Amino acid sequence: MTLRCYKCGKEISPGGTSYIIRIISISNFNGIIEPQENMDLKSLIKEIEEEIKGLPEDLIEEEIFKEKEFILCPRCKELFFANPFGKKLDNMKPPESIPPP
Ligand SMILES: [Zn+2]
Repeated sequence: MTLRCYKCGKEISPGGTSYIIRIISISNFNGIIEPQENMDLKSLIKEIEEEIKGLPEDLIEEEIFKEKEFILCPRCKELFFANPFGKKLDNMKPPESIPPP
């Protein structure tokens, strides 16, 4: 099987350098539930159960923890880390000159 960069599609030669980018999202639930006024714990649990009723278990799990892996070539890895979320760089200008190391 040929290994290809997920982003640019470039073939990664056998023994060539590539990177695995692993993205994990974990629910940032802080453990604090703020029940509505006059709602006891039993009613709150019942409400949560009603909300998730009918949803497949894997979907509920996915809401809490999700993991994905991508293979990138060295160039795409650098580009990814420079701006992982593709934010606009309108206010950033490249430097006029680069100081010597
Ligand atoms: Zn690439």
